[in-house]
Amino acid sequence: MPDTPADSARNQHGPAPQRPESNHDDALPPDWIDGEGPSKGLRQTTLLSKDARLAGRPKLCSDCGLCDSQLKPLMAKTCVFVRNRGDELEQRYLGRNRRDGDELRFGVFTQMLAARMRRPVDGAQWSGMVTTLAARLLEGGEVEAVITAATMPGTRFAPRPVLARTPEEVFATAGNKPCLSPNLALLDQVRESGVKRLAFVGTGCQVHMLRAAQQELGLERLDVIGIPCSDNVTYPDLTFFLDQVSRSPATIVHYEFMQDYSLHMRHEDGSEERLNFIDFPMDKLEGIFPSACLSCFDYANTLADITIGYMGAELGWQWVLVRNARGRELLDLIRPELEIGELGSGGDRARGMPRYLQMLPKPPGKPPKPIRRLIAWLQRNRGPRGLEFARAIIEMKLFRNLHYVRTHFARYEPRIVPDHVYRTLAPYADDYQAVFERPLDPTRRSRD
Ligand SMILES: Cc1cc2nc3c(=O)[nH]c(=O)nc-3n(C[C@H](O)[C@H](O)[C@H](O)COP(=O)(O)OP(=O)(O)OC[C@H]3O[C@@H](n4cnc5c(N)ncnc54)[C@H](O)[C@@H]3O)c2cc1C
Ligand code: SF4
Ligand code: SF4
Repeated sequence: MPDTPADSARNQHGPAPQRPESNHDDALPPDWIDGEGPSKGLRQTTLLSKDARLAGRPKLCSDCGLCDSQLKPLMAKTCVFVRNRGDELEQRYLGRNRRDGDELRFGVFTQMLAARMRRPVDGAQWSGMVTTLAARLLEGGEVEAVITAATMPGTRFAPRPVLARTPEEVFATAGNKPCLSPNLALLDQVRESGVKRLAFVGTGCQVHMLRAAQQELGLERLDVIGIPCSDNVTYPDLTFFLDQVSRSPATIVHYEFMQDYSLHMRHEDGSEERLNFIDFPMDKLEGIFPSACLSCFDYANTLADITIGYMGAELGWQWVLVRNARGRELLDLIRPELEIGELGSGGDRARGMPRYLQMLPKPPGKPPKPIRRLIAWLQRNRGPRGLEFARAIIEMKLFRNLHYVRTHFARYEPRIVPDHVYRTLAPYADDYQAVFERPLDPTRRSRD
């Protein structure tokens, strides 16, 4: 969910409800290490409340699905919330680590562009580049199956991971299901069905676990199509969120946090509703975000072969980051169907960041209406735009999540906060020190 430096008031999240179970590192319960098989079936996907669904899991768990599969014994080696292995996985799958500059925020990339499908896909979140790419891979026989997220029957937005075998099955999964989705649980089905050439569509945490387990999967080919992701929620919390922000939550068929600093919601009858980010009732939303998503440092899905989002592009376009040679081949596959646009950048994110930092430790608040109107106007007309918008959003989430980890999971910081976070935020180190009275980058962090 995007926000901006000027919109500091909505960026506070109190502690997410904690579950009374063991810690997530040296005190892992034995069954997490020994692995006694899947803990539940896919039919339960995100329909339970978060407490019921995640009961017995480590405190930091984004429900990626790995622990629902026979690969559960690999959790301690692969889970990004046990140890972030981004640096080593970048080396292995992208050939190098990120360089200073935009790669610190966006991850390693060899090409970055704005694009969109000339003929948008029905039901797609944006123009449908993701589903088209996955479908073309199946059509050309380059992969035998695609792990993707369909909609749980009887719900509007609850995800149901599926192993799609035909282009039609892939296109049927177009559109966001903006909830935690245990996609990796399908790795059992992949193995059982003998699939050796696989494409995977998913979020950054899922991709971290997948990459960390990749060498154990026995696949001949794995294409990874990443979507950016931030502030995901469980399905019950999503419905709660929509209840708070919409005049008619039950009729919403599509929504997105747009680059114009507002939430756009489309209803069944085609009407559109908008709510400025600054008008969100943050006091009511406190606690809906899972601890894992508040401890996540990979907004841009940096271990994918190609990441396809929107937030670095102008409204109406998709934002594409090609990360390696395979990503380039994937883009080439749909290039004839694409319109290519320009990436722009405007505004100055650094101006608002000190104020954002000052607001970070304070409880969420909502300024009076005239002030909110002014802020919304300033955001839209003077705020960061294009790539600068993406930089601003990513830096704010890094700060917010670092603060969250230091407040609630301080012991885990050396394991789960990657070095690039400190490098990215270094220009604001003095502002950080002034607000938090401690260094941004602890120079003597333990790495064991
Ligand atoms: C929770 C969430 C938050 C996001 N936040 C941002 C953001 O802040 N900035 C940004 O640039 N982009 C974000 N995205 C990605 C963006 O909204 C689009 O999904 C992406 O740009 C692809 O658009 P498309 O039209 O090409 O996708 P489509 O062709 O419509 O395909 C969408 C694909 O997304 C997959 N998918 C849907 N829901 C999930 C899920 N819950 N977990 C895993 N995979 C799923 C489906 O498998 C499907 O293949 C987010 C996506 C999600 C699910
Ligand atoms: S995030 Fe995935 S790998 Fe980590 S504990 Fe949860 S299900 Fe297991
Ligand atoms: S915000 Fe991070 S941890 Fe949460 S679902 Fe998205 S990628 Fe995973």
